[in-house]
Amino acid sequence: MTKTGERCSFCGREKRDTNILIAGLNAHICDYCVIQAQQIMEEELTAKGQKQMPDYTLLKPVEIKKHLDQYVIGQEEAKKLLAVAVYNHYKRIFHVKKAKEDDVEIEKSNIILVGETGTGKTLLARTIARMLNVPFCIADATVLTEAGYVGEDVESILSRLLQVADFNVAAAERGIVFIDEIDKIARKSDNPSITRDVSGEGVQQALLKLLEGTVVNVPPQGGRKHPEQKMIQVNTLNILFITGGAFDGIEKKIGARLQTNQIGYTSNRERDQIDKDNLMQYVSSVDLKSYGLIPELVGRLPIVTHLHALDRATLRRILTEPKNSLTRQYIKLFEMDGIKLSFEEDALDFIVDKSVEFKLGARGLRSIMEAVMTDAMYDLPSKSTVKSLKLTLQFVKEKFGRMNVARLKVA
Ligand code: ADP
Repeated sequence: MTKTGERCSFCGREKRDTNILIAGLNAHICDYCVIQAQQIMEEELTAKGQKQMPDYTLLKPVEIKKHLDQYVIGQEEAKKLLAVAVYNHYKRIFHVKKAKEDDVEIEKSNIILVGETGTGKTLLARTIARMLNVPFCIADATVLTEAGYVGEDVESILSRLLQVADFNVAAAERGIVFIDEIDKIARKSDNPSITRDVSGEGVQQALLKLLEGTVVNVPPQGGRKHPEQKMIQVNTLNILFITGGAFDGIEKKIGARLQTNQIGYTSNRERDQIDKDNLMQYVSSVDLKSYGLIPELVGRLPIVTHLHALDRATLRRILTEPKNSLTRQYIKLFEMDGIKLSFEEDALDFIVDKSVEFKLGARGLRSIMEAVMTDAMYDLPSKSTVKSLKLTLQFVKEKFGRMNVARLKVA
C-alpha cells in the first residue's frame, strides 16, 4: 500500500503520476528522474572521456563476409562490398585519433543498396549490426518529412537508435541505421526546375547533415511529457548509414547511360559484354542522380551496390541453408514439444515452386510454410503419443490445396 503524499524527492511528482516510485532511506525517485539521471551521467562521463566504450572486435572483411554467408544466401558482390565498407568504417572510428595526427582523414562510407523488395537488404544491415553488437534501427524514408510538416522529423531516426541503445549515447553514436525506401524520396523529375518535388527533396536535404556527421539535438523517448525535457545531443559522425531502395525503373537510366557511353568510347567487344537482361548490376551514383536523388545526398552515400532478384535456386537454398532458416526454426519449435520434425526434399521443392509461381519471393516462403504447418502446430502439442512428423509432398500439397493463396500475398 502506498501512503498518501509520497512523491519523488527530485521532481516532486506524486506517486500516482509516476509509473514507478522507488523508495530510499529518506527519499524517493520516480522513473522519469531515473531516466534523466542516466542521461546526465552519460553526458558527463562522455564529456570527461570516462565513458566506457562498448566492446568491439574488429573483424577482417573476409571474416565479416563469412559471417554474412551464414545468414544471407547469394548476393555475393553486395556482401563483399558491405564487408569492406563496414571494416573501413570501424577502422576509421578506431583510428580516428591517429588519422588526425597523420592529417589523413578517412571519409565515412555510408552505403546504398539497390534491389527489389524482399531481396535481403534489411537482412544484410541487421546481420552486420548483430555481428558487431552495435545498436541498430530501421527507419522508413517515406514517413520522414521536413521539419514543420506533418510526419516524422529526421531526428526521430536517432530517437529510435537511442532507445535501442538503452540511452547509451556513446553506443548509439557507433550504431548502424538502415533507412529503407530511400528511392521514395527521390525528386520526380530529373530537372529540378520543372516539377520540383519539394517534400522529397526537403527530406533529402534534411538527411544530408545526418549522413555526413553532425551534432543533433534528439528528443528522448517520444510521447512522454517531461517538465524540463532535455534534448540529448547525438553526434552522427560515426554512425554508419545503410540505405536501401528498389528504384523501380532505374534500369532505363542505366541502359541510357551505358548506351551513351558506348558511342565513341567503347569497342564492339566491350559493348557485347554488357548483360542487357541484368542492367541493375551496373548501377552507379550517376544513375541514382538521374533517378532523382540530389547530388549532395549521392555524394554522402559513396558505396553503391545492388542485390539480385532471387531466383528459384536461391529461394530453395534460403529455405534450408541460413543458420536460422525456416526449416531449422520449425524443427526447433517442434523439438520443444518433443516432436522430431523432418522434411522431404520434394515437399520443400513444392513450397519453393509455389512461391515462384505466385511471385511471393522469400517472404512468401514463410507464409506458405506457416500455412502448411498451422494444423500440425495446433494439434500435435496435445497428442503426447506423436513423436515425429515428416513433411511429405502429399502432406504439403494437401494443405496448400486448402489455402487461400490470395491471403499469402505479402507486401
Ligand atoms: P528487403 O529489405 O530487401 O525488402 P528483407 O531483408 O526484409 O528484404 O528480406 C525479407 C525476408 O526474406 C528476410 O527476413 C529473409 O528471411 C528473407 N531473405 C531475403 N533475401 C534473402 C537472402 N539473400 N538470404 C536469406 N534470406 C533472405
